[in-house]
Amino acid sequence: MAASAEAVRIAVITGGNKGIGWHIADQLIKAGGFRVLIACRNPELGAKAAAELGAEYTELDVGSEESIAAFAERMSSEHGRVDVFVNNAGIASNSFNSTPFEEQTGPILKVNYWGTARLTDAMLPLLRNGRSPRLVNVASMKGKLKEQLSAALQEQFSSPGLTREVLDDLVRKFEADVAAGQHQKEGWGNSNYGFSKLALIAYTKIAAREEADTMRVNACCPGWCSTDMGSQSGPRSASDGARNAVQCVFLPDDGPTGEFWENEGISVW
Ligand code: NAP
Repeated sequence: MAASAEAVRIAVITGGNKGIGWHIADQLIKAGGFRVLIACRNPELGAKAAAELGAEYTELDVGSEESIAAFAERMSSEHGRVDVFVNNAGIASNSFNSTPFEEQTGPILKVNYWGTARLTDAMLPLLRNGRSPRLVNVASMKGKLKEQLSAALQEQFSSPGLTREVLDDLVRKFEADVAAGQHQKEGWGNSNYGFSKLALIAYTKIAAREEADTMRVNACCPGWCSTDMGSQSGPRSASDGARNAVQCVFLPDDGPTGEFWENEGISVW
């Protein structure tokens, strides 16, 4: 039975025009009860995917402060609330990219951490107005503490007292250490992408603590999926990968929050 207009929840998926995001949108639409908006940077790709999915397209470049501000204003004036927000948009490097490590740091962090974190900060008030609000951050197993950080840094990132200001300072320190050619000496791993996702998981835990009474906030890894990001070589389908994020949308109101999920279960960060 179709949900009444009143009961329909507004779900926004960033980067929903292809890959895992497309399948997150598709699975929510097929589940029923959602009005799904895909927030994409390319108007043509966004409109085409929205038509395929039966979703709506809205413009958003997570790497642009202006675009984030315009998007937040649009969501506020047109909807006044968001019930489900999935930070799926992301970029990575690959083994064919010959751009030096230090030149990749800024662009990857700009989208995967800085843009995503500031976008989410702007969405939190709209989520607080939402019905059974869910925030889902698509991170990665590459962002696991032990994979990316020295023991001392692991302690700082996983501290229950970590604030977003301290987290931002730590991300700036990573950027500065990379620029100075000393990031490994300082205890950081050697992956811009992995670090960006680690910082996103740390952000997830801060937001979950702050919003414990208002919403469920979780991060997930879709697994290594066959999408453009992984040169279509991953062993898991994008549809199967999407289930990890979708599962976090369907958690009950008193369900887990601040967790890292993979293989459709709670995992160790
Ligand atoms: P994908 O096929 O490359 O899709 C990425 C999506 O993000 C595209 O829609 C892309 O838009 C969008 N995007 C990138 N930068 C953006 C920006 N600045 N503003 C708005 N949208 C932007 O990759 P995917 O594999 O589906 O990845 C989805 C998420 O899963 C990412 O966060 C990724 O890090 C994560 N993940 C993937 C894997 C994997 O094995 N594939 C594993 C772990 C985690 P365009 O089409 O315009 O480029």
